Amino acid sequence: MKQIAILGSTGSIGTQTLDVIRRNSSEFQVTVLAANSNDELLEKQIHEFNPRFAVLSDESAYQRLKSRYSGATEILGGRQAFIDSATVDEIEIVVTSMTGFAGLEPTVKAIKSHKTIALANKETLVVAGEIITKLAREYNVKILPVDSEHCAFFQCLNGENPKSIEKLLLTASGGPFRGKSREDLKHAAIDQVLAHPTWNMGKKITVDSASLVNKGLEVIEAKWLYDVDYDRIQVVVHPQSIVHSMIQFCDGSIIAQLATTDMRLPIHYALHYPNRIESDLPRLDFWQMKDLTFEKPDLETFRGLKFAYEVGKAGGTLPTTFNAANEIAVAEFLKGRIKFLQIYDIIEETISRRTNKKNPALEDLYAEDLESRETAKSILEKLK
Ligand code: MN
Repeated sequence: MKQIAILGSTGSIGTQTLDVIRRNSSEFQVTVLAANSNDELLEKQIHEFNPRFAVLSDESAYQRLKSRYSGATEILGGRQAFIDSATVDEIEIVVTSMTGFAGLEPTVKAIKSHKTIALANKETLVVAGEIITKLAREYNVKILPVDSEHCAFFQCLNGENPKSIEKLLLTASGGPFRGKSREDLKHAAIDQVLAHPTWNMGKKITVDSASLVNKGLEVIEAKWLYDVDYDRIQVVVHPQSIVHSMIQFCDGSIIAQLATTDMRLPIHYALHYPNRIESDLPRLDFWQMKDLTFEKPDLETFRGLKFAYEVGKAGGTLPTTFNAANEIAVAEFLKGRIKFLQIYDIIEETISRRTNKKNPALEDLYAEDLESRETAKSILEKLK
């Protein structure tokens, strides 16, 4: 049985990973469940999956669970316990399904402990793609993408020489505001932003999908996973979300991966890799499919994608700045404190105030993340 650690087990990808495991219970053993602060759901997961360790990053959530739980699972608490949770010897695969920059440190620890990474935390590659891919080579660790588009690339590359890639065609649903103008979006409400047309996901990534920041993060993620220049990563809006991405090869052939919009499929693929194992997940029905359409993204309205190409090409600490400003802005938006389009203003202003540092070490990225957050917060004060 493969032993698994799930970091971020109570979130959207975490719970879907547990559902995949539930459907393949003879093959996987959950050794570690780690969450931020949802002690009630974590407790239910402990009772169902009986992990050796369960971790809550948040101290008070840890105290709550600790005081009422009496069972065989060892309960640990605090940020450091969370960071160290994937280092347990017997663990083979670590699913990184936590949100945001906070995923970087535990992922570094897991790689240094020689664990296969099923990577759902794209921010790790956005801010530290160069360091992480180098580290993974050094420790001979596989990074298996769980993001649906990157899982599509991964599958399209099966048996192909990566050198024969001409272009990555990264598909995007376009989100709930596809076709809208800046004027239309001036008063976009939270519930409109959260009403994603094709995917059911966590709140942060759903806002990122509406702003196309998510697609920008995915462009940078793809660059590091497949070592393809930004000029050869083309975002294609495909509202039906059936083609999950495509690769154009040097002979002009294009290979695409198609499936339903169900994250359990890329999770299932990553957990079983290199084998393709049968699943009882929903199938595509070609008689129900009306049409598959493709269009150009609107970079002037959805500036998040444009920013991502710019900071990605610049490299250094700038992707960290971009990501930190976005995380702050999205959290403020979700609290109803700023308007949707102000997310872009905060990102743009934060980037313009910070100085890019080339060839950063991990410590530089941790520092830049903190400082960019402070900068973004001070810009927020001015906007209010
Ligand atoms: Mn994706």
